Amino acid sequence: MGLVGELLPFFVAAYLLDCLVRVRPGQALFTSLWGRHFRLEGPGWRWVGFLPASESVLVPSLGFRANETGVLLSPSGDGRRRLVAYEDIERVAVEDGHVCLGPGLELKATHPSAAMELAALVEQLRLTARPRRLALIRRALRRRCDLAALRRRRLEQAKDLRMLKVLSGAAFVAFFVVLPASVLPDLAWRPSLLQAGVLFLLAYLAVLSVSVRLLRRVGVRGWALGSRMLPLALFPPAAVHAPALVARETSFGFEPLAAAALLLDPQEFRRLEQRLRREQAAGDGPESGGESVVEAMTLDLVAREAARAGVPELEDPSPGDASAAAFCPECGGQYRTGFARCSDCDVPLEPFAS
Ligand SMILES: [Zn+2]
Repeated sequence: MGLVGELLPFFVAAYLLDCLVRVRPGQALFTSLWGRHFRLEGPGWRWVGFLPASESVLVPSLGFRANETGVLLSPSGDGRRRLVAYEDIERVAVEDGHVCLGPGLELKATHPSAAMELAALVEQLRLTARPRRLALIRRALRRRCDLAALRRRRLEQAKDLRMLKVLSGAAFVAFFVVLPASVLPDLAWRPSLLQAGVLFLLAYLAVLSVSVRLLRRVGVRGWALGSRMLPLALFPPAAVHAPALVARETSFGFEPLAAAALLLDPQEFRRLEQRLRREQAAGDGPESGGESVVEAMTLDLVAREAARAGVPELEDPSPGDASAAAFCPECGGQYRTGFARCSDCDVPLEPFAS
C-alpha cells in the first residue's frame, strides 16, 4: 500500500474531526444530511457534514438585550445582568470580536460577524432620543427577521451551492475511491497515483474557487474570508464536505428563529415558537426590567412573517393509539394516563381534546 495507504487512516480520522462544529450560546445550527429536512442543533459540540450533499446553516443571533434606557450585559460572576445606560457609554468599539462600551464593559457578540452590526446598533441607540429607541431596535430586528430576504439570499446561493455539492462529490470520489484504488496492487486496472492526485487536486481547486465566490457574494471579504477558508486551505480533504463547512457561513444577518421558520418542518417550527413564547413569558416578571423586550419583538416579528409566508399553524395532535391520553406540547411525545410530565422535556403534559 505504501505511504498513501499508511496515511489514509490518519486522513479519515482528521476528516471526522473536521466535521466537529462548536455551536456557541446565542447561535443555532441547522443541519441536513441531503440539503432538506433540516434539524435544529443547540449549543455544544456537533458532528455535521459527513457527506458532500450535507448542508449546515449556522445562524448567530444578534445576542442583543436592551430596552429604551440601556443595554444589558451578560451575567457576571454573581449571575446578575447589568444594565448600562446609554448615557453612561463613553464610546463603542469592536475589539477581538466583542463590543467594548467602556472600561470593563464588554458586550459579547455571538459571532465575530455580529459584532460590527451590534456595535453600530448600540452607537445609533446612544445617539437617539429615548422615545425613538424601541422603534429603532424594532427596525433593526425587522431586517434580521425578514423571511422574504432570507429566502432570496438562499435562492441566490442555490446555484453555487448545487455546484459546490457536485464538486465536493467529485472530491469525495477522488479521495475515498480513486486514491485508495491507485495503491491497491491486486486491482486489474488501477489509475496511477499521479492521475488520482491530479483528479483530486482539480476538484479541490474548483471547490476553493466556488467557496470563495459564495462567501464573497454574501459580503464576507478580506480577513474574515481568509479565516473561513483556512480549514479548507490547511486540510484539503475538507473539500469533501465544503457545502457544510463553507455554506453554513452564508446566512449571517438573520435571526435564528427566522431561519427556523424557513428551514424547519412547519410543525417543528411552531413547537419551537410555542416553547420560546413560554420561556419568554416565564422570564418576563415584574423585576426583569424589560430584559426580554428584544425576545418578545423577535417572536412577534417572526410570527407575523411566518403567517405572511403561509407557514401553517400548530395542529392539535391526535392520539396515536387508544391508550394515548396526553401529549407533550414541546416534543409531541404521547403518554398514557398516569403521567403528568414529559420525561424528555420536563414540561407538564396536555390532555388530548376528546
Ligand atoms: Zn417532551
